[in-house]
Amino acid sequence: MSQLHELISKSQEFSEFETKQKHTWCSGCGNFGILNALQRALVLENIKPHEALLCYDVGCNGNASDKINSYTIHGLHGRVLSLASGAALANTKQEVIAIAGDGATFSEGINHLVHAVRNDYPITFILHNNNNYGLTIGQASSTTKHGFAMSASPDGVIADPLNTLDFVLSLKPSFVARSFSGDVEHMTRTIQSGLNHPGFSYIEIMQACPTFNKATPQEWYWDKIKYIEDYPDYNKNDIWQARKMVENMETQLAIGVLYEKTEQTDFLQKVESRKNSTTELTQEVQNRSIQELLQEFV
Ligand code: SF4
Repeated sequence: MSQLHELISKSQEFSEFETKQKHTWCSGCGNFGILNALQRALVLENIKPHEALLCYDVGCNGNASDKINSYTIHGLHGRVLSLASGAALANTKQEVIAIAGDGATFSEGINHLVHAVRNDYPITFILHNNNNYGLTIGQASSTTKHGFAMSASPDGVIADPLNTLDFVLSLKPSFVARSFSGDVEHMTRTIQSGLNHPGFSYIEIMQACPTFNKATPQEWYWDKIKYIEDYPDYNKNDIWQARKMVENMETQLAIGVLYEKTEQTDFLQKVESRKNSTTELTQEVQNRSIQELLQEFV
């Protein structure tokens, strides 16, 4: 059954995720498609609104937090991964999804990204990469193109943009994928793959921001994207092939699941292996009195 036909047969489940809140994004914004794909993926994976926790960072993406009916939380700028990690470990039955932009993820929150990847926390992370800070009216982020004039750098950005995928791949992740906000069906499939991966799934969406990112409009992406299935010899279990594949940021942008570890032990499985330990994760943060220790100093 095609994705669309399956969704039509689940239109009731789809409508359960809808809210009456008005969308405030600019016309043509990629956020519309990303939110739609997320809803589709949840429905197709038979996840009910009460079974998911959607943790949103601050940014244009975060304005989706009241546009979808589920458990949602709109946290602090750059801190969404620490919030989502805690939630995912506290309630392992909940499907925890973290959503953030390139500004928050690769500047304020880059430390949290590093540790979420290396710990392989059980989270699906959806990065909206629109190459700027859109909500605060178009400042350059770590991914803005070199030389491009932005609101706080009118003479052009001096630094080269960060290769986000190569950076994440260098951290030895367990799952890395990329998609494009203009292709809802592809985003849906990619998010579904991320939801089915047991550890930390990094999904980067190249997002159109017609208001502030004039450097890479929709057409720019459509000219350059290529589906990973169209590379016959590509092995998604080979991290070095994945790193080679993402080197090119200008003329060829492969989309799909770019890397998935074959032998994986995610964070929760590692915790399981400590079964003989006398404490569980929640017990390790029990209240303890330090009064006795302080006696020495007072
Ligand atoms: Fe979308 Fe950009 Fe407008 Fe934000 S500023 S709502 S990212 S088009």
